[in-house]
Amino acid sequence: MDRFPADKPTLRLTNTLSRQKEDFVPEDPANVRMYVCGPTVYDYAHIGNARPVVVFDVLYRLLRHLYGAEHVKYVRNITDVDDKINARAAAEGISIRELTEKTAAQFHADMRALGALDPDIEPRATEHIGEMKELIETLVEKGHAYVAEDHVLFDVGSMEDYGKLSGRSLEDMQAGARVEVAPYKKGPMDFVLWKPSAGNEPGWPSPCSIERSGRPGWHIECSAMAGKHLGKTFDIHGGGVDLVFPHHENEVAQSRCSHDAPLMAHYWLHNGFLQVEGEKMSKSLGNFVTVHELLETQKIGGRAWDGRTIRLVLLMTQYRQPLDFTEKSLQEADRLLDRWAELIAANESECGPANDLPVEVVEALCDDLNTPRAIAALHGFAREGRQGDALAVRRLAASLAFLGFETEAMLTRAAKGEEAKQADPELAIRVEGRIADRLAARAARNWAEADRIRDELAGEGIVLKDYKDGDTGEIRTSWEVKR
Ligand SMILES: [Zn+2]
Repeated sequence: MDRFPADKPTLRLTNTLSRQKEDFVPEDPANVRMYVCGPTVYDYAHIGNARPVVVFDVLYRLLRHLYGAEHVKYVRNITDVDDKINARAAAEGISIRELTEKTAAQFHADMRALGALDPDIEPRATEHIGEMKELIETLVEKGHAYVAEDHVLFDVGSMEDYGKLSGRSLEDMQAGARVEVAPYKKGPMDFVLWKPSAGNEPGWPSPCSIERSGRPGWHIECSAMAGKHLGKTFDIHGGGVDLVFPHHENEVAQSRCSHDAPLMAHYWLHNGFLQVEGEKMSKSLGNFVTVHELLETQKIGGRAWDGRTIRLVLLMTQYRQPLDFTEKSLQEADRLLDRWAELIAANESECGPANDLPVEVVEALCDDLNTPRAIAALHGFAREGRQGDALAVRRLAASLAFLGFETEAMLTRAAKGEEAKQADPELAIRVEGRIADRLAARAARNWAEADRIRDELAGEGIVLKDYKDGDTGEIRTSWEVKR
């Protein structure tokens, strides 16, 4: 408890708007508001979709710690009207509603498995069509949007500093634009707020006296939902760096111009790109990985992975940096969590409620969510804990819980490993024997035999993990039974 400073450390965040690390000062500390763009629900979330969910979950937890849980409001939407949804529903021969319900439920299950808290409010686009139409009509009235051939378009030329968030001038954008210019657009960068729907597409009665029914563009959905639930101006808007332009730029344009506000959000946060095994993830490269596949199938590394293991991989890189998601990083995170779990389980009677949150962990997170620095602190606690310092183990458990690795989940993890070994003592003797054989093969540089033994055990669901002993530097092998 002595590690709690009287006043908490200052939170500093890199703001895409200023391109600088700034002190975070909320408009109202009693009502700290954050909006993060949520999923378009037509397919399983891939690991790149999971990154912002986990990153902003850590920020959400930190804000709750700094301001009090009841003073933080986190909104993350569900986009359930989108042309990709229409196409997928048609391809699967199911209704749009069926597809969006199924996908949203899967998204929730996957993100909970990663230890992400639910946001306070999770608005759905289809439940905010009225708010979108109101925004659109206001923009037309104020001269920022116009009707053309049953579409409503935002007139980017009507906004003096369009492009400020992404740091592009309108001239540059137009010069570089390869967008096909629809003849009814006034300017090539003007974007759709509302568009007409054909017979089989979802449609609602249109705004601005347009007779044909229609549906909203993607950008207006977030402006409407953020405005309704967080107000005209709020504190933090987050998402992946791929959303800065055009999505976030256009959200800013819509919200500011309709509300006559100098800002939509004070702080814009963007997480970096994610690659898989050093390459851009794509279905054509065959390295496309969904969270569902990691959790439920043997696609990566021949085994299913625990959600907290995936979470740790996502936090081992600071959120603004590009992240390379690899099988090796999964194995490393898995082994780390196992060792921490064993340590916590061995000191279970010592691990009381999480009231020993160490200041170095909070400080690391307050420094632009420096999760690698926080994890380095955990290594330190674990080292002290292994040397018999029970308080260090409590700090480890409290820090992990704060980062979304609840003590209960850690104990379950440790118990599973132990149970599997104890349930079959003969198995333990046999596996240890085979591990010794494998070490001998490796010592003789007989790599083929060593690999054969590993694969033979993997065939029985026994996973071997090599690690360097922190004290002696020797290579050791731990094992566990997976499902
Ligand atoms: Zn959005």
